[in-house]
Amino acid sequence: MGAERVSERLEELFTLGKPPHANRPGLSAAEDRAFARVAAWMEELDMRVERDPAANLVARRPGTDPDLGEVWVGSHLDTVPGGGRYDGTFGVVGALEAVEALGAQPLPRTVAVVAFRDEEGSRFGRSCFGSRALIGRLEPDELSATDASGISVRDALARSGGDPERVSSGWLDPRPACFLETHIEQGPVLERSGLPLGVVSAIVGVAELQVRISGRRGHAGTTPMDARADALVAAAELVDGVRALALSIPDAVATVGRLDAQPGAANVIAELAELSVDLRSPVESDLDELERGVRSLAGEVAERQGCVAEVRRGWRSPPTEMSPAVRDVLAKAVARAGYPIKTLPSGAGHDAAVMAAAGIPSAMLFVRSLSGGVSHSADEHSDRRDLRAAIQVLSVALSRLAA
Ligand SMILES: [Zn+2]
Repeated sequence: MGAERVSERLEELFTLGKPPHANRPGLSAAEDRAFARVAAWMEELDMRVERDPAANLVARRPGTDPDLGEVWVGSHLDTVPGGGRYDGTFGVVGALEAVEALGAQPLPRTVAVVAFRDEEGSRFGRSCFGSRALIGRLEPDELSATDASGISVRDALARSGGDPERVSSGWLDPRPACFLETHIEQGPVLERSGLPLGVVSAIVGVAELQVRISGRRGHAGTTPMDARADALVAAAELVDGVRALALSIPDAVATVGRLDAQPGAANVIAELAELSVDLRSPVESDLDELERGVRSLAGEVAERQGCVAEVRRGWRSPPTEMSPAVRDVLAKAVARAGYPIKTLPSGAGHDAAVMAAAGIPSAMLFVRSLSGGVSHSADEHSDRRDLRAAIQVLSVALSRLAA
């Protein structure tokens, strides 16, 4: 199987822009060049290649029965600035190898490889542009959003060969029978388990909270320790408590990534502390429990320090469960390749969550990330043998799903 060719192609896409590699923001010239290379590889496989209004690529291997729903497989080709070789890209390049491995066997269903645009959202601020456009879920004002240099989504899309007039209406009709996405794990779980592959159970839901703790400003020298309402001390207790809360719930993670104290002077007791809390879980009721936990904890720590806490919810997205039927096909293909079946949630969002949200039975195959699971970095790495295993499993799964 073409794991060597996959490595060469990943390297070619990695280095096709100017250093530092990889730098392919959504709807940029560098992303366009990656799409052009991949379109050529699709054509080499004699697939019918189409560019849709979002400038996504869809390449078809026709089935023998055009009335049956299609089997879709793919991922994205954009990267964050200074991204790696594998994130998204392997899901497209590996899918082409898996389709080639199907050979000439006639399959009833059409298999379509899709390469999505702008999944990362690091340029215009919203992720999964290509897949959301496909299912008709762009925001009303989305085409007017601009990047740091003032270029709008509308203009960038037109330059990349998309159709701004048609992109907002969705066009996925008829819907595919299912969607498969192969992706590097971007975390350390498979590496720690000593396993090359994992089947994703669910893509986590995210709840973002903003906590504001109000205390009383005072002189750092003249205010006795027992006469303070120190907002920063309450905030510190909350940071520690949020961590303990996440540790008490399986598969949950919680992060305080921002903490501002006012007035922010070395010799003044903080009168105000503001924190962001990012909560994630693959289980909706656990996400509720995390949110309730942070709210009550904020009240407790504030009261203990003579302060007052106010918790506001930012945005919240529900967990997305992967299709049990499609997962099962993947799991059987993993077992057939001789590997134990490892099931794990995805802590990051993916195009597969968008496809699932549109009611398309979707599943994800994770490939082991090495070096502790580092991702969104040029140090991202997966072993060639693991890539080969993923291609093999994907090909078996495609032949089952397209039967
Ligand atoms: Zn990705």
